Amino acid sequence: MVTKIRRIAILGGGPAGLFTFKRLIESGRSDLEIDIFERKSELGTGMPYSSEGANDEHITNVSDNEIPELVVSIEEWVKVAPKEILDRFNITPENFNEFKVLPRLFFGQYLSSQFELLSTQAKTLGIHTNFHLNTHVIDVIDQPEQDEVWVEFAEKEMMKFDRVVICTGHNWPLINEGKIKGYYDSPYPPSKLEFKVNHPVAIKGSSLTAIDAIRTLARNNGEFIKNAAGEITYQRFESSPEFKLVMHSIDGLLPGIRFHLDDTHLSNDSLLTPEEIVRHKDENEGFLSLDFVFEKNFKEIFIEKDPAFFDQIKDLSLEEFVNSMMDLRERLDPFQLFKAEYMEAEKSIKRKESVYWKEMLAVLSFAMNYPAKYLSAEDMQRLTKVLMPLISIVIAFVPQGSAKEMLALHEAGVLELIAVSPESKVIPQKGGGITYEYKDESGDLKSTDYKTFVNSIGQPRLSYEQFPFKSMIEKKTISPAHIRFRSGEEGKAALAKGRNDVEADSAGNYYLRVPGITINDNFQVVDEFGAYNKRIYIMAVPYIGGYNPDYSGLDFCEEASERVIESMFK
Ligand SMILES: Cc1cc2nc3c(=O)[nH]c(=O)nc-3n(C[C@H](O)[C@H](O)[C@H](O)COP(=O)(O)OP(=O)(O)OC[C@H]3O[C@@H](n4cnc5c(N)ncnc54)[C@H](O)[C@@H]3O)c2cc1C
Repeated sequence: MVTKIRRIAILGGGPAGLFTFKRLIESGRSDLEIDIFERKSELGTGMPYSSEGANDEHITNVSDNEIPELVVSIEEWVKVAPKEILDRFNITPENFNEFKVLPRLFFGQYLSSQFELLSTQAKTLGIHTNFHLNTHVIDVIDQPEQDEVWVEFAEKEMMKFDRVVICTGHNWPLINEGKIKGYYDSPYPPSKLEFKVNHPVAIKGSSLTAIDAIRTLARNNGEFIKNAAGEITYQRFESSPEFKLVMHSIDGLLPGIRFHLDDTHLSNDSLLTPEEIVRHKDENEGFLSLDFVFEKNFKEIFIEKDPAFFDQIKDLSLEEFVNSMMDLRERLDPFQLFKAEYMEAEKSIKRKESVYWKEMLAVLSFAMNYPAKYLSAEDMQRLTKVLMPLISIVIAFVPQGSAKEMLALHEAGVLELIAVSPESKVIPQKGGGITYEYKDESGDLKSTDYKTFVNSIGQPRLSYEQFPFKSMIEKKTISPAHIRFRSGEEGKAALAKGRNDVEADSAGNYYLRVPGITINDNFQVVDEFGAYNKRIYIMAVPYIGGYNPDYSGLDFCEEASERVIESMFK
């Protein structure tokens, strides 16, 4: 019953916690008591926008005009922001540009200030809020009999709530770091990469996480020099003549560059409505067809907007479309293509004209996120193996500043990219460093030793077993995420091949196990019998990646928090 919900806990005070707090304030309810628990000593900055995930050189890939609405815009905040922060990043109300990306640490301070403004709003509305900083949640225990959730902390007594929203965010498990010299499981916190190195550094990945590692290592072993025309070059320090950065990526592709978006919030009036999706599922044995979504939420949008492009792609299947786009990329030298895309993006920004097919791919990806859990296992495999590799390249939205640095490093002979086979291996060496084993483009087996290695593939999608709140596993409050095969034959054949991500139930259904835990459309956790839990919501991205393939970003925080709070008070 609505009137009973009073005590609400937000676990984690990063961007997801911030958007959840905002939605609660906007809910129109004043009889709430909200408790926000944050492990660190500050709110809002989360991982990417604090020293845990950024140094001064790290930038957002979104600008003020693309950031979902909070209390005031960054442009407004800049007028009242502490001088010391403005000076540190050389930002003034006069030079501020709402279309430009921002230093992540600066952005974190903005998010922090929005928490403060929201807390004032809550007070005015009579909503009682308790902020618990330096407070580490260690367990979440569902108590269905009492209709409560108990939360345990490292530092204080357990507390009881009516509803809990888990917003604990990013987690990068340490596997070899600290045990193998020169091995880094991720580039975070970036302060750990502030060292001099006089040998090649192997980087796994070539997208935004790799760029974070590159920006820090490059600054510690050389300098970027800007000429009067604003062009930059790179020069190694004399002490690091052998310094080199060697990225390794499957297919040897570089990520796409930020361009002008027609709709900064990645929506489109022609997308399938929730009602149309339900109707389609009802007519399709409960499954969402990937081909249907590809037709409706991608191809058909071009009929009006770009008929020439529509003509090019109208008869292509999803696989044929992806192949044609990838073929083009694979045929060209990745840095040449990167340079060409940089020019195209510059033009797009200057003329405020979108690169429409890329924008639509981002829209498709965002729109696919929520209904993806209704794909069949067959389609989920097509999505992750065929479409997502292209999407992840195109929607990386590398900021212009980062692209310029990558090109300067490449021109200086410092940055290179090696295409590796999907089954390539990084073998940690007891004496330090790694051996990279892979097949090159001609299929020849290669093996290269590196003294330093940075795993930069991005936030790993964590498994059910890695879920941090163990009582939820022990009491079976949560269940591993899986997706049913539409064709029993196909499921059976996959199982017969010995695949350990395929399982069968006693009714003869076959399932594909996907990363993380099961959730419903409102981000409530779901148990093994398929029953959703009305008390516990989760927005922590590493644990819901199986059901939310494109799960990240501030737009996700905004959208997911809306669904969470709407369902809470429905
Ligand atoms: C390096 C990086 C850069 C990114 N850049 C962008 C970008 O430019 N634009 C964009 O849109 N998206 C970006 N993202 C995506 C990112 O996922 C979101 O922007 C956002 O940070 C997600 O917020 P969150 O609150 O879910 O997670 P987090 O930012 O990880 O915040 C979680 C919070 O919970 C706290 N916490 C964790 N565990 C506990 C616990 N047990 N007890 C108490 N507190 C806890 C943490 O201290 C943290 O404050 C980036 C992601 C990464 C990794």
